[in-house]
This record gives sequence, C-alpha cells and structure tokens, in this order.
Amino acid sequence: MKSVCLLGATGSIGDSALEIIRQHPDEFILHSVAAYSQWEKLAQIIKEFNVRRVCLFDETAAQALREYLGIPVLCGMSGLEELASDSEADIVINALMGAVGGLPTLRAIHAGKHIALANKETMVMAGPIIQDALLENPNAKITPIDSEHNAIFQCLAGRPASEVECLQITASGGPFRTWAFEKFSEITLEDALNHPVWSMGKKITIDSASMMNKGLEVIEAHFLFGIPYEQIQVVVHPQSRVHSLVQFKDGNLMAQLGAPDMKIPIQAALTWPLRLPLRTERLHLAELKQLTFEAPDFQKFPCLAIAYEAGKLGGVYPAMMNAANEVLVDAFLKRKIRFTDIPKYIETVMGKTPKIEKRLTLPQALEADAEARRLARELVY
Ligand code: MG
Repeated sequence: MKSVCLLGATGSIGDSALEIIRQHPDEFILHSVAAYSQWEKLAQIIKEFNVRRVCLFDETAAQALREYLGIPVLCGMSGLEELASDSEADIVINALMGAVGGLPTLRAIHAGKHIALANKETMVMAGPIIQDALLENPNAKITPIDSEHNAIFQCLAGRPASEVECLQITASGGPFRTWAFEKFSEITLEDALNHPVWSMGKKITIDSASMMNKGLEVIEAHFLFGIPYEQIQVVVHPQSRVHSLVQFKDGNLMAQLGAPDMKIPIQAALTWPLRLPLRTERLHLAELKQLTFEAPDFQKFPCLAIAYEAGKLGGVYPAMMNAANEVLVDAFLKRKIRFTDIPKYIETVMGKTPKIEKRLTLPQALEADAEARRLARELVY
C-alpha cells in the first residue's frame, strides 16, 4: 500500500490521478491533497478519500475550507512544502501549475520521496538544482507524468544516456499547424483555446498552440534524461498516438503508443516497472488507418526556437523564459496582447537576461523568475 500526496488535486491531472486511486484501492491511499483555490471541489475529494492533510495555496480559500469542514488547512508555499516532505507520504504527485511547483519538488527530493512529476516548470526553471539534489539524495527518484517524457522513460527502460542517439519528442502541432504564417497575427483567444486532441487547462492549451509547451518539454527532457540539446528532436505528429520515441545507437527506434488519456502515463509513473490493469480506452490501429509525421515549422512557431536557445544558453535563461511566458500567456488570456506578441515579448525579456557562468543556484533561479515577471508585466501593462 502506497501513501500518496497529490499536489494540484483539482486540475485535469488531479482528476486523472484520483481515478487511478479509485481503480486501485488496494494499491494506493490518498494521504494529502493541495490545490490553488478551488476549496469546494477539494472538500468533495477530502470526503470521498478520507484525506488526512490538506493545503490550499490561497489564504482566503483555505479559511473557507476550514470553516466548511472544521479541519486544519495549511496554506501558501510553506503548506505545499510541508505536504511534499511529510514523512507519511511515499509518493508525491506534483501536478501544480507553473513555477510554484519547483520548491515542493525540491523538498520532496530532500525527504527521499518518489516524485511523479507533471509540473514541467520544475525542471525548466531549476533543472541543474534538481539534478544536484537527486545526486545528494539517492533514495529520491522522479518518474515523469508528462506524456512525452513518460513515453521516453518507458522506451529507455533504464538504459543509460550513453546508448541514446537522440530523443524524438512528438508534438500535435496544435490548432495552427495548418494555418498560413500570414494569418498568425489574426489569431483570437477562442482559436488558441481550441486544441484538436487533448483537453487540458487553459495555460497549457495556449502553450500547445504556440508550441512553447514543446519547447518547455525539450528543456524538461534535457534535464530529466541528461541528453544534450543537439540530441533532442521535435517531430510533429497530429494524431497524438505516438507519445515520443528513443533512437538508440544500435539502430533501434523505440516508440510508446497509447490512447490520448493521461491516466495511462500517470499510472505508469506511479507503478513503474510494474504494469497494473487500467480501465481506459485502447488504441485500434486499423481504425486509425494512418499516423503521420512532419518536421516542426520554426518560423510559424518561434517559441520552439526560443526554448532551444534558452536551453542551450543555460543558467537563468530557461527560468526567465518560463516566467515571462507565464505572464504573457495570462495577458493573452485576458486579451491584453496578441498571440504573436508572446514570443516577441519573451525575446525582449531574454535580451535583458544576465549570463551566469557557474552552476545555477535556487536563489538565482527564483530571483530570475521574479525579474522576468516584472519585465514582462512592464511590457504588457
Ligand atoms: Mg506533454
């Protein structure tokens, strides 16, 4: 029986994780949950799973839940950190949204946890710090939930980076894959929120439309698997059934396929190397008929090129890029800027980024994150 801490319980990854726990009552017990502010939804989860410890990031929401259920409710970053390092939890599922997920991941590593990681910003803003922390805490481990990284994790199956020729990260291409470049300046919020395959939160849906999501995933893969950027490729695959591939040096190309259902990678991240039954959709290849692949268009999707550049520059660049992107996506969601302003303003922010020669530290990453947010807001508001 594994005791689970679920950070980000009310989001779409949270929903899928809860369904896995429901399907495996003899394998998992939900010990603690955290969410941003949706206290009513969290209250239902607490009742259903008899959850022991609770955190709401938002203080007002935490107070509302305290009054509603009459239980202690932690709040803020300290609450997230406390749950992530709780000695009662065996597995920490980090499905928090955005840069807020970084510190809880670090606390969980220091506490020697198994972290099932959906929060890609953790690796983007603090990749070298997470790598160092994992070396210092050999009991801790990270298994990726992000479908592409989970696919690579499964294809690698423990083989060392030295045997890998390249990683091939698949991308759906988002809603604008077939749009003409000239029409990009007319993209509306509604166009961008209309993802062809996956149903996700708004932030990641916009990131998918701009392909920044894929850029973040390239950086995430670099740090998770220790593979140089020159050996990480993106391949556009609109059907989203091949979730990513590993080309080994001996000529073997391993792919992982499955229905586009996040329960599949989440469960693999929780139970690896075991494969437990899961009630979910199956792939029927004959019905699909064809799977297609094409190279990404860096002109239409400059965010992808920016992410490669930020990754290769290293230091605080990925953290600055990620933070600026969060502010700019939020501004786009509030109709303050155009879709094509997102990469333009990120480049402006990155132009003001200091180069750091030594290995990145956490205070530097956090400071860079705050500075990029300030610079991005200055451009927008
Ligand atoms: Mg993904």
